[in-house]
Amino acid sequence: MTLSHPTQTGSRSATYDRPAARFTDDEQLEVRASALGQCRRALWYAATEQDVTNPMSDETKTVLEAGQALEAVVVRAMQRRFWTVTPADPDAPLQVEVEAGPGLTVTGHPDATGAIELFGDESVIEVKTRGPEAFKRWQTLGAERSHPDSVAQAACYSLGLYGECRDVVIATLDTGARSWDYEVIPAERVERAWDRACERLAPLAEHYELHGPNPEALPERDFTASDWQCQRCPYLNVCQPGEAAEAVDEADAEPTEPVSDEVAHDALLKYEQIQQQLKSLDADKRGALKTLQHWLQQKGEAKARLEGSAKTRTVGMVTSRRYAVDHKRLNALLEPEQRAEIVTEQTSEYLRVS
Ligand code: SF4
Repeated sequence: MTLSHPTQTGSRSATYDRPAARFTDDEQLEVRASALGQCRRALWYAATEQDVTNPMSDETKTVLEAGQALEAVVVRAMQRRFWTVTPADPDAPLQVEVEAGPGLTVTGHPDATGAIELFGDESVIEVKTRGPEAFKRWQTLGAERSHPDSVAQAACYSLGLYGECRDVVIATLDTGARSWDYEVIPAERVERAWDRACERLAPLAEHYELHGPNPEALPERDFTASDWQCQRCPYLNVCQPGEAAEAVDEADAEPTEPVSDEVAHDALLKYEQIQQQLKSLDADKRGALKTLQHWLQQKGEAKARLEGSAKTRTVGMVTSRRYAVDHKRLNALLEPEQRAEIVTEQTSEYLRVS
């Protein structure tokens, strides 16, 4: 069963700041749509009203609130690009409630609905804001690989609003460049994302049926202390206090050879000096190459030999080609599993001085 209705609270914060999970009066486990991908033990802590041991820092709250405030900016940008978009009423957003399995419901508030001409049917628009790196990752890999929870969330809204999984739109703003883009996820893949989310949560509903709302009967952990999910978890200290401290210690571990601030400062000055030298060398190199190019053009030749300081060199124009992949079209055409075989992800680490 699915249904949607206007929220009754009238208070924006009360509407959106619901716990990630809770037990309802009719003994259902209710999970917030935006928390579909959360650790199941963390959902249990929320539902059993465990005290938060690791509250969000003020800085994280600011980032979160800035992201929420910018969602309206994305909607207006879409409207300027000829999308028909109906944003949620911030004071009385429509609430959807979707049955996700026996004893399990998912509730949430869709950001917006709308359509572009190509689409035809009205569908759910899930609005996200991402930092530059996460934005690039989403554009390249697609939301099903980079942020699968957002697809399951949109699937829930589609079921709640239309009673079916339709194509959904993920519209995302790059908070660095302040540019936006969108991705359309086809209905059958939206449905699969929803099925996966339901399968994942089903054991938690069974756990509730077996143990009732018992705060002591904890489900297994989904992550370990070194995972980012645990590092940001509001229940980290109660879930794994010893290991959490160890993970933090490891992350903060000093290098074996301690480096004083003075030595680091000297290294920075040296780095700046070399950067400056490289810049001016680069400008000189570009100037010399430009002169050689003009010389070649005057000769009317594509290639010519010229005596250098140590040997005779060939000066010639080279044509290079680059091949670009349209990730948006690729993501639309292929299943996420197929894409994972074609577009692989590699991470490397380097030090940036800015
Ligand atoms: S600390 Fe990690 S394992 Fe424990 S509840 Fe939080 S996310 Fe889950």
